Amino acid sequence: MTRARVAVVGGGWAGLSAAARLADRGHTVTLFEAARQLGGRAREVTWTLADGRSIALDNGQHILLGAYRETLDLMALCSVSSAAVLLREPVRLEAVDGFSLKAWRLPAPWHLLMGVLCARGLELRARVDMLRLMLWARSQGWTLAADRPVARWLGEQRQCEAIVAKVWAPLCVAALNTPVEIASAQVFLNVLRDSLGAGRHASDLLLPCVSLDGLIPAACAALVTAKGGEVRLGTRVTGLVGDGNGVTLATDGAREPAFDAVVVALPAHQIGNLFDLATAPEFAALAAQCRALRWQPITTVYLAYPAAVRLAQPMLALTESVRQGWFGQWVFDKAQLGGPAGLLAVVISAQGPHQDLGQEALAAAVEEQLRIQLGFAAQVQAVRVISEKRATFACVPDLVRPAQRTPDARVVLAGDYTQSAYPATLETAVASGRAAAELIEGTLATHVIT
Ligand SMILES: Cc1cc2nc3c(=O)[nH]c(=O)nc-3n(C[C@H](O)[C@H](O)[C@H](O)COP(=O)(O)OP(=O)(O)OC[C@H]3O[C@@H](n4cnc5c(N)ncnc54)[C@H](O)[C@@H]3O)c2cc1C
Repeated sequence: MTRARVAVVGGGWAGLSAAARLADRGHTVTLFEAARQLGGRAREVTWTLADGRSIALDNGQHILLGAYRETLDLMALCSVSSAAVLLREPVRLEAVDGFSLKAWRLPAPWHLLMGVLCARGLELRARVDMLRLMLWARSQGWTLAADRPVARWLGEQRQCEAIVAKVWAPLCVAALNTPVEIASAQVFLNVLRDSLGAGRHASDLLLPCVSLDGLIPAACAALVTAKGGEVRLGTRVTGLVGDGNGVTLATDGAREPAFDAVVVALPAHQIGNLFDLATAPEFAALAAQCRALRWQPITTVYLAYPAAVRLAQPMLALTESVRQGWFGQWVFDKAQLGGPAGLLAVVISAQGPHQDLGQEALAAAVEEQLRIQLGFAAQVQAVRVISEKRATFACVPDLVRPAQRTPDARVVLAGDYTQSAYPATLETAVASGRAAAELIEGTLATHVIT
């Protein structure tokens, strides 16, 4: 394969994945990232406390699954030991109200069957409903004749309120970041098929024990530079033009020498800005498709308690009740995940009435929720709220997502929003990066590069 000059625009996990794969295949990669750091929507954030201490946080708590094969492969490519940076545990749903469902250390499907049969705080009807749904889904090859909202599908499957509230709704919102009323049942089924419905290890929870930067971004960047490439932080790409000489990028007023090919790994809502549709009208349909995607937020509330405050396990489901002003869905004990003692992270996925509150009011509501549901008497010493308004696209039924190929074969898209059976996740982003690298190689193989 000829060594080509390839640009990757966007240093989120999709762009990093593409850059690492292309660099590993011997191409000279230049990675352009507008921010002063890599990682995009999965990045490290520094929090300086009142006493001057600095803590490395994430822009939001991220969970990986055993089924994240592409992400684990990328870590291996970049010489990151997943065992050293991820805490692997059999899947378990444990809630503050005493509900507990844990996979057993048995081969599939016994791991789940025993987990459901021995679940705590779940009435018999709910157990039967859960197993019935899984068996039905398997018998249908995990495929619906027509997509529909998750809530409607669960109703058609006569799932009782308890199993929806304790299992299906929390899993759907956590996986698709979209409320059950509007989330795609087919994508939810795809996730169930490849996690709970697959081998025992596929449903394992992989909880990061280092900041997100230590999982992929730092190691990918090191690989790119070690292979002779370049990582240019703080460099915003403002335009892209393909002609007979290659693909030229404009960066904040400057023009880069032409590249042989480009991976565009920007968030979907920014794709349209790259192309001058007057001179490149063939990109209009793609720009419109990207613009048509809708977004869902994720909010993380970090609360620093005295060091003695801790949870019984690294993560716990909270009881959400809009009526009572309880918006928190999950709470994580960062001390059990390599962070400072006393630091908790409360996650609120998808849209909801919490968006109407200011940060201070939301933090106070979450603090009160923990006081009531976890019985905390200790005072919070500091709070930080991080709201990502465009955390993921809204994963609704029959969504048509952009393909990775574009009208110019030398320009390929990568990102969690591109065509995939899965919702917007790290795994989708990383997989799209690998696929983009392969498409670029296919194009380069049919064009002579000197
Ligand atoms: C709070 C939160 C929690 C999440 N939790 C989970 C989870 O638990 N599990 C999971 O699997 N997924 C989770 N996700 C989803 C996951 O983080 C995303 O799917 C993934 O990070 C998307 O990566 P990406 O590379 O496709 O896009 P992005 O991360 O958006 O990357 C795009 C990059 O392009 C850069 N850029 C933008 N414009 C330009 C420009 N003009 N020039 C150059 N660079 C530019 C951006 O700065 C960014 O770095 C979560 C997301 C959020 C926000």
